[in-house]
Amino acid sequence: MSEKYWQYRTCKNCGFEEQRENEKLVAAFESTRKWESMCPNCGVKNVERAGWAIPDLDSELLRVWGKDESLQFDQQDEDILLAEEDNIELLLNGVDSKELLHSKRSTLLAALCVLVYDHTPEGDEEDPDVKPEISAKVTAELKDRMHLFNELDTVYISEYIKEVVYPRLGIPLANM
Ligand SMILES: [Zn+2]
Repeated sequence: MSEKYWQYRTCKNCGFEEQRENEKLVAAFESTRKWESMCPNCGVKNVERAGWAIPDLDSELLRVWGKDESLQFDQQDEDILLAEEDNIELLLNGVDSKELLHSKRSTLLAALCVLVYDHTPEGDEEDPDVKPEISAKVTAELKDRMHLFNELDTVYISEYIKEVVYPRLGIPLANM
């Protein structure tokens, strides 16, 4: 049996609490986990609180997402959501894959840049969440793929990320 992912919502109108379980491919994407039905208790749809579990990224999710323009893991900051240490190999495989859509590969390139940014220490501050070895590893991987910065769409990379990451890659900031 495949793993299920919980989701809940609480009705603002009557306080009714609902829970359901989603399959991985439903739980992963913003549009598929949308809960549109009316409250079964009062017949109104007015959500006070809602929450949901999100599956970890895997190669299946990456492939499904990467080939479908309409699917998003999250409407906002998808690059930041994807920028997890555990995802590095998946992100690299995806950004290299000609099977995936240009826009999705561009998002993956942005996520890799977020990883470099997140793990680049600021000043002398010791932050246990900042791992310079992660930044170094991803920087080296990106340096092997400099053509992607011409090939893909770099508008997905936020300016504040570029300011830190581009100098590390040897890309002149004037080219931003
Ligand atoms: Zn209700």
